[in-house]
Amino acid sequence: MATLNITPSSASTVLSTPFVNEAFVDFTDAGNKRAMEEALATVANSLGREYDIIIGGKHLQTAKKIVSTNPARPEQVIGIHQHAGVEHVDEAVKAAQAAFATWSKTPVEQRVDLLFRAADVIRERKFELCAWLTYEVGKNWAESDADVAETIDFLEFYGREALRIQQVQPPIQFPGERNQLRYIPLGVGAVIPPWNFPFAIMAGMTAAAIVCGNTVVLKPSVDSPTIASKFMEIMEEIGLPDGVINLCQGEGPEFGSALVAHPQTRFIAFTGSKAVGLDIHERAAKTQPGQIFIKRTILEMGGKDAILVEPDSDLDAAVEGVVLSAFGFNGQKCSACSRAIVNESIYDAFCDKLVARVARIKTGDPVENVYTGPVISERSYRKVLDYLKIGKEEGRLLIGGDAIETESGGYYIAPTVIADVAPTARIVLEEIFGPVLAIIKSRSFDESLAIANNTEYGLTGAVYTTSREKLTRAAEEFHVGNLYFNRKCTGAMVGAHPFGGFNMSGTDSKAGGPDYLLLFTQAKSVAEKLGTVSE
Ligand code: NAD
Repeated sequence: MATLNITPSSASTVLSTPFVNEAFVDFTDAGNKRAMEEALATVANSLGREYDIIIGGKHLQTAKKIVSTNPARPEQVIGIHQHAGVEHVDEAVKAAQAAFATWSKTPVEQRVDLLFRAADVIRERKFELCAWLTYEVGKNWAESDADVAETIDFLEFYGREALRIQQVQPPIQFPGERNQLRYIPLGVGAVIPPWNFPFAIMAGMTAAAIVCGNTVVLKPSVDSPTIASKFMEIMEEIGLPDGVINLCQGEGPEFGSALVAHPQTRFIAFTGSKAVGLDIHERAAKTQPGQIFIKRTILEMGGKDAILVEPDSDLDAAVEGVVLSAFGFNGQKCSACSRAIVNESIYDAFCDKLVARVARIKTGDPVENVYTGPVISERSYRKVLDYLKIGKEEGRLLIGGDAIETESGGYYIAPTVIADVAPTARIVLEEIFGPVLAIIKSRSFDESLAIANNTEYGLTGAVYTTSREKLTRAAEEFHVGNLYFNRKCTGAMVGAHPFGGFNMSGTDSKAGGPDYLLLFTQAKSVAEKLGTVSE
């Protein structure tokens, strides 16, 4: 194992510095704009490089490759990655197990220092990392910056949280005993992130796991492998011991599923679609020969998020909130608003204002910082186009409704709004994960709440109203993990909005909240009879 090159620990003083979210970059500032343009130009010169998979600190090459391309220009190769197959699973888990023996005993302050130092490096390289995200997944500059800022927030927040929870907890002291409760790591985990927040969710789940003393096999999405390799480069650069993170770029149904099933995989931290989350849940529940524990799953899944617009609301603010929530990053956020539920008395006015606002959205190459770019892949493009066909039959197309053809062959789809949709229509119930908004007319607040709750998901939601009574009712009755009042339903901030959903949106793990790290630990109670050992 490599030695951990830790500076004198800043960890003990850090708790006295309150956590503050990383500030977003103001790209209207000429200096920041120039810095981003320069970063895009520099990264353009590094596109197409090969990256290794890394198991137990060893860099490995394979015959088969995973090729990451730019969704705005599918011909442009972002990175070529070695391909971890089923044959690598056991090796990766064993490497993680070997590292666990030391890493789990490494003082928490050192583990925390590693996270803080990673955050520092990411801060220094912010524009470059934003540029990688813009090329690899088609985020505009602000969306890339939000992803990088959230990554820094997770590292800073979980570092502080680890210090807090690793202090021995004083439980009730039973008379005649000294009682302690301490949180210890679980073992080897599988970290399986999605492509849509390919930096923040990938690094966030990994950081949460390792700061608690676990070691992991990290399997990023095949649609966003390069940013994960960049993260791993940073972790190696700052002295991550071998085997603590084993980076295996592999396919979900092949490598991912075999990793979940491995008898030594103690826990699975997954974020992605409902179908895959449920598959992992089932697979993890099956006890394998040689398995001596019950696997823990932390599963964050899809959404079909709604915004309720009431007659007493500020209509312009509601329109803006719906547009930003529905079309930011093309609706490719689990928190994206895909349903606007609007009271009949303001329905027509809302639709008119919304269409006028959506008509002003510009779609184009994210490198040029256009508001909406392409969807992630050809597969996603085809899926969204299929839903547009269904949507046109299920409602009245107000705007959009088609692909946008470009010379670059990017996967562009026009921001689409479909009105007069029944609460039970497919485009109202199924997650599309693209720039498609359904508008549903409602006769009352009761009906709006009923429609909002009538999906199998329960991730985010918002209500626009000036009525305290309605907000109080929504807080009680709108069944979602992240509820917002008089603001958009996307953009959860680490610390302020612990994130996770109900029902088929997942296990409600509340990433970025005070309970999250406990999911990566098990609590050990130690009771000693007083007076039995001379001190
Ligand atoms: P996905 O489910 O297709 O893939 C997620 C990850 O699982 C990828 O790394 C993939 O390779 C892997 N995978 C695929 N099949 C697997 C299998 N059989 N076994 C093990 N691993 C497997 O999701 P995606 O397209 O990458 O991401 C979009 C989805 O993620 C949307 O549904 C979105 O709502 C959801 N999401 C949820 C949250 C949240 O916090 N709830 C956040 C972001 C995204």
